[in-house]
Amino acid sequence: MKIIDLTQNISAQMPVYPGTAQPRLSPSSTLAQDGFRETLLQMVSHTGTHLDAPGHIFAEGATLDQLPVDTFCGMGVIIDATVCQNGEIPLSVIEPYGGKMRFCQFALLKTNWDRYWGEEHYFSGYPLLSDEAVQYLASQQQLTGIGIDAISFDKIDSAELPIHRQLLSSGKVLIENLTNLGEIRGNMAMISVLPLKYADADGSPVRAVAFQPPEGLFCPC
Ligand SMILES: [Zn+2]
Repeated sequence: MKIIDLTQNISAQMPVYPGTAQPRLSPSSTLAQDGFRETLLQMVSHTGTHLDAPGHIFAEGATLDQLPVDTFCGMGVIIDATVCQNGEIPLSVIEPYGGKMRFCQFALLKTNWDRYWGEEHYFSGYPLLSDEAVQYLASQQQLTGIGIDAISFDKIDSAELPIHRQLLSSGKVLIENLTNLGEIRGNMAMISVLPLKYADADGSPVRAVAFQPPEGLFCPC
């Protein structure tokens, strides 16, 4: 079974959402002094490849620690939105995947914007879901998570976060800053985006992976 890493590296120099503190990774114990090595990790809960819980923006919204663990693992459909560079992801791009989406928990939007990771361009101009596309995805009851390989589902300077609001109010989690979606063969794979289980988790960095069955093995892809 091939496992594809869909996760960005966490480091002190990594790109973070404008205004967010950079992560700090400092030695807490060292081999020289203590005989073992430990690192004090300090980072905002929405750093790198991460999940947003409904509780991220809704006072009564579920937090990640409250959601069942099967929220975070299941079949995913990878939607090719690479034709939507510098613009909108219209419903017409999403709808053709509707048949496969019925069997999936995750819809992952492949924009290929991760190729700008580490550049200023990463923070602006990435494709955004149209209103119709948002409504369509929000209404898919079987979906527990929607992901994208860009910094956000909303414009970088958005104060209202309208797309986050619509998708999170439907009870789904969001996954941002995915990478390597192009390495998934076909357009379906098992997806795992397990978050840290901490109290009142509004979000969490995740190690996002796709499990790709060997070629020839039956898969509804
Ligand atoms: Zn977030």
